[in-house]
Amino acid sequence: MNCEKLICDENSTIKDVLKCINNNAKGIAFIVDEDNKLVGIATDGDIRRALLDGAGLKETINAYMNGQFIYAPNPVEAQRIFQQYEWKIKIIPLVDEYMHVTDYVECNNKQHIALAQPQLIGNEYNYLMDAFLSTWISSTGKYVTQFEESFSKYCGVKYGVAVSNGTVALHLALVALGIGKGDEVIVPDITFAATINAVIYTGATPVIVDIEEDSWCIDPDEIEKAITPNTKAIIPVHIYGQPCDMGQICDIAQKHNLYIVEDCAEAHGAEWNNRKVGSFGVISCFSFFGNKVITTGEGGMCVTNSAELNDKMRVLRDHGMSKERKYYHEVIGFNYRMTNLQAAIGLAQTERIDEILEWREKIDDEYRDVFTKIKGISMQKKNLNERKKIAWLVSALIDSDKRDDVLEELRKNNIDARAFFIPLSEMEIYKKYARDCIISKKISQMGINLPTTYETKQAVIKKISVIICAMLHGEGNK
Ligand SMILES: *Cc1c(COP(=O)(O)O)cnc(C)c1O
Repeated sequence: MNCEKLICDENSTIKDVLKCINNNAKGIAFIVDEDNKLVGIATDGDIRRALLDGAGLKETINAYMNGQFIYAPNPVEAQRIFQQYEWKIKIIPLVDEYMHVTDYVECNNKQHIALAQPQLIGNEYNYLMDAFLSTWISSTGKYVTQFEESFSKYCGVKYGVAVSNGTVALHLALVALGIGKGDEVIVPDITFAATINAVIYTGATPVIVDIEEDSWCIDPDEIEKAITPNTKAIIPVHIYGQPCDMGQICDIAQKHNLYIVEDCAEAHGAEWNNRKVGSFGVISCFSFFGNKVITTGEGGMCVTNSAELNDKMRVLRDHGMSKERKYYHEVIGFNYRMTNLQAAIGLAQTERIDEILEWREKIDDEYRDVFTKIKGISMQKKNLNERKKIAWLVSALIDSDKRDDVLEELRKNNIDARAFFIPLSEMEIYKKYARDCIISKKISQMGINLPTTYETKQAVIKKISVIICAMLHGEGNK
């Protein structure tokens, strides 16, 4: 058993326990009674304090151990405890029903600072277990409906259609709108490839246009220049949490009779003119991938105010099968359903979305505080005219000549940091669809994304800023 090296008898002397801790190199001993029941925990810190208080090495440990210790029945529960205690606890013993130690779990989140990490500390586990125990683990079950209702309501939109991921959400939306061969769909040059791929799946032709210098979002003037008689739709992407200029884009769409399909995969909860993103498009698409604002592992949703499109998407999502006549297929559909298990997590995440956005915002503000003191780094713009951005990843621009070295140095220091998306126009498979894109190229070469996990505490942000500052200005770079 791998926990043997951590176990000491309650009659052991302090010296014996110190030897045990010294041998196991975990900084901790589990103290058991004569029946092998776990009765206490002693950390090297507990012993240090005992010795400073005058305890002798030959005294038995039981007077000095911690009897009010934390333990868990299984690793899942242990992970929940780590999260609740914000990873301040380092080791949690696992016990069986007799309080016998069966194993232990170490907190492995201390070293590496991930770019993104879901926080699953509300009802996620309870709802997931409930769905699991109900045996409704496929795509029928109460959580799918509840998640659709709660998330669409959050967006201020009437209907939600939950799907397997954000990419198929975009595809489903375009198919439901009848977009296909011969049609053109306008997309921004800076986005994740799924946006343009969804257009290509339908047989339509994507048209890639440049972005705005201040918001990094699709440029409405460039949209207007790209419109032809074949243009059917625009996909504005609210990039890195920044909402597009929905006022201008809606005007253009109305003037030219075009559909707007919003790609909200990176901006759950962002607003334009006090209205949430997702409420501007005829259909709007969200992703709930593990690194997004809220997550279901894999997952997505189309939201719409149109009852007709809602019905249509439900049929298309479910093999194109008639809702009235089982196994009668009205259209060529897809299997794009979300499972009840995923929706259970999604519902719990939606309950906490405001709280999640708040801590993200707090982290973003802490970066802003520190970065304002560094020359040569500028954070993504906040409060641009009517826009209320949310903090997804922290996004900033630095000198393009130094960008890749900065990223490498951060990664060497166990901090996950990424470069911005490569412009679509710079990739072989997409460049034939691109119009002139100058700003996207420039921004993409300067952009970095930094962690916004709940472990990204002030100390981590300080460390990141010291590394960046040293790389940009050579101070302390030894
Ligand atoms: C993540 C993302 C998607 C795709 O979502 P998946 O759930 O990963 O399929 C689409 N568009 C943008 C802008 C994204 O960031």
